[in-house]
Amino acid sequence: MSKRDYYEVLGVSKSASKDEIKKAYRKLSKQYHPDINKEPDAADKFKEIKEAYEVLSDEQKKAHYDQFGHTDPNQGFGGFGGQDFGGFGGFEDIFSTFFGGGGGRRRDPNAPRQGADLQYTMTLSFEEAAFGKETEIEIPREENCGTCSGTGAKPGTKVETCSQCHGSGQINVEQNTAFGRVVNRRTCNVCKGTGKHIPNKCTTCSGAGKIKKRKKIQVKVPAGIDDGQQLRVSGQGEPGINGGPAGDLYVVFHVRDHEFFERDGDDIYCEMPITFAQAALGDEIEVPTLHGKVKLKVPAGTQTGTRFRLKGKGVSNVRGYGQGDQHVVILVVTPKKLTEKQKQLLREFSEISGESPDEQEDGFFSKLKRALKGE
Ligand code: ZN
Ligand code: ZN
Repeated sequence: MSKRDYYEVLGVSKSASKDEIKKAYRKLSKQYHPDINKEPDAADKFKEIKEAYEVLSDEQKKAHYDQFGHTDPNQGFGGFGGQDFGGFGGFEDIFSTFFGGGGGRRRDPNAPRQGADLQYTMTLSFEEAAFGKETEIEIPREENCGTCSGTGAKPGTKVETCSQCHGSGQINVEQNTAFGRVVNRRTCNVCKGTGKHIPNKCTTCSGAGKIKKRKKIQVKVPAGIDDGQQLRVSGQGEPGINGGPAGDLYVVFHVRDHEFFERDGDDIYCEMPITFAQAALGDEIEVPTLHGKVKLKVPAGTQTGTRFRLKGKGVSNVRGYGQGDQHVVILVVTPKKLTEKQKQLLREFSEISGESPDEQEDGFFSKLKRALKGE
């Protein structure tokens, strides 16, 4: 199977900045996350996106990729013979670059690593999204075990170095291939890549050093947040490994639909039905807005579809750039049920109005009527 170009996978150009790469990754990983996307190939896509990002976000790996492209170890060793790997140091470094993966992506299992990012989906009502709110959420996340302080060893006992891999977390496996004897690095099966051996395991966490806890976190939802937007809560992801920094928590918002209002950016749209008489004679009507009822003057002769703007009655811009408007679209409703008296009055009205809905001879309806008569 041939691999797609990493830049192509993320949909960025070769000259894309670190930020652009990160943005593209965030967007795509959200789109194809197997928890969200139920398409059968979403998991593979997600994996592909993750792999591309892992390479392109790492300066050294990116430089190597830009120079050599995909270095699939299965595609033969021959091609690399005599290549100058200047800058990559010894044999070990080349191996770890090519054979990264299989769980032992990093060479030193004891190096500090950032904890994983977490994602939480919060459903908001239309009003909550418009005005923001402060709330507390509970997320299940791993925390360092309090009994052993994350070491996994029973208090008072020591963590030892794995005797099989001598702490590296990986072992060399020799294999005979068409190209001769090849040494493959594999994750150590004794310590599962941790490089450690714990003779007396902590009884609270069974030696994992971490326990799942439900953690309460205060979240301030900014006014004007919209469906699909997310908020980063720095440092509230999973704890770091070996003293690395914690990951981040991403709160993704889902905003429920409103009975009458529809939102487009910071603007709100609503339809207001009025009667034929109100439209023809004009009236003052009450319009609901997020900020309470507002009186709106409908001038005589208002047509269906006429739009009125209520300035500043929309949603606050989430980045603080002002306030949206509310747009009121008038719907002139034709009555379906009429009493005898209403019918009679309308017949009288019709008689004195004539056939044309236009008042002017050169109006659209008059022209249309004349065209139908072949005039
Ligand atoms: Zn423990
Ligand atoms: Zn080991």
